[in-house]
Amino acid sequence: MMIAHPTVRARLTLWHAGALTLVICLFAVGVFLFVRASLYRSLDQQVRDDLATIEKVYREETGDLGELALRTGTHFEVTEGPTVVHRTAGWPPPSAAPFRQGALADSAHRIVAARDETPVRQTLWTLAIIMATAIPCAAGLALIGGYFLAGRVLAPVGAMADTARRITADSLDARLPVSNSSDEFGRLASVFNETLSRLDAAFEQLRRFTADASHELRTPLTVMRSVGEVSLQRSLSAEGYREVIGSMLEEVDRLTRLVENLLLLTRAEAGRIPLTRASVDLRDLVAGVSDGLRVLAEEKNQELTVELTGPIAVECDATVLRQGITNLLHNAIKFTPPKGIIRVAASSTVAGDAVIEVEDSGPGIPAADQHRVFERFYRVDHSRSRDTGGTGLGLAIARWAVEASGGRIELESVAGQGTLFRVVLPRS
Ligand code: ADP
Repeated sequence: MMIAHPTVRARLTLWHAGALTLVICLFAVGVFLFVRASLYRSLDQQVRDDLATIEKVYREETGDLGELALRTGTHFEVTEGPTVVHRTAGWPPPSAAPFRQGALADSAHRIVAARDETPVRQTLWTLAIIMATAIPCAAGLALIGGYFLAGRVLAPVGAMADTARRITADSLDARLPVSNSSDEFGRLASVFNETLSRLDAAFEQLRRFTADASHELRTPLTVMRSVGEVSLQRSLSAEGYREVIGSMLEEVDRLTRLVENLLLLTRAEAGRIPLTRASVDLRDLVAGVSDGLRVLAEEKNQELTVELTGPIAVECDATVLRQGITNLLHNAIKFTPPKGIIRVAASSTVAGDAVIEVEDSGPGIPAADQHRVFERFYRVDHSRSRDTGGTGLGLAIARWAVEASGGRIELESVAGQGTLFRVVLPRS
């Protein structure tokens, strides 16, 4: 019965034994043919030597042909025309028996000699029997050896499978054993381990995100609850209730903003926000954002200057990019103290890029925090950010918006000396 899906070990063993047996068979046939040819060659040579000796004895009459036949064990016949000069007993040899013949003739006489080839046949027969016994034995050994070797070679796969089977979402820090990183299985395990590391990092990020998001959602709910409970404990005037409702609505606003931003980021990361790219003049976009937020700056007596030079055409989704620039300028206004200075500029560089700069004279971002401020929910000063109504997602959204437009965000800041966000976009 055929095995439908033999294991790799079985297949390796069969291939190994099959190939080895084939090689041994070819080798054995070669050896047999070679030995056979050389045995017959030497028998023929013996017959030729016999003919020469008989010829010599016959011509020079130096000996007795009968005695020669006994000495050499050769069968021969010497004839002179129709006359038989000498003929050994039993000549001619029976045609059924194996004999090797040779002849020597001139105009006067003819010598025919024959040697029994039974010893040669026996030797060849013995050789064939030895080979016929040895080849199945060798094939059997190849099977056993191959099975053992294949088992040893495939052992790391078994170990990897055992470990991989135990890995779950909670144990993504486990790694497959790498016995030799430079062989094929070692490389496979290393690649698998790298994938595990990426998955682990992604899971960790997801876990942190879920924890952060829950925390962010809980804070306004807690505030609403405590404001509600406190006001329920005492009777308030109409003005008092209005105040309570107002502060609750503030928290609802915060919650709404948070949920909207979360939704936006999640959909953006899943690539589910369709982008409509068109040629946009950055001057219009930056002027529009500045005009929209100017009132906030004025409330804080901040000086907001806008510098725009020449037309700057960029291929992007205007709504998405506007959202990103709005977040940057909103942060500048939020974190810069009253009477501070905020500058927004759009220009193009000789290298062919379009650049938008949002600079403020605010508290700046310490160097240690600069590479993390674009992470979701990361804040330099947690309490201050909450006071200003931030959700901790503004910069993450800004970065996505700029990158979705094919650009990048750079940050230059020295703590206490203001902040500069530079958006670099390829010009169309
Ligand atoms: P938030 O909602 O807190 O503003 P963001 O993602 O927009 O969240 O910003 C992350 C953090 O980066 C802020 O909490 C703040 O600490 C810091 N930050 C952002 N922009 C500025 C700025 N212009 N000046 C100083 N700090 C800033």
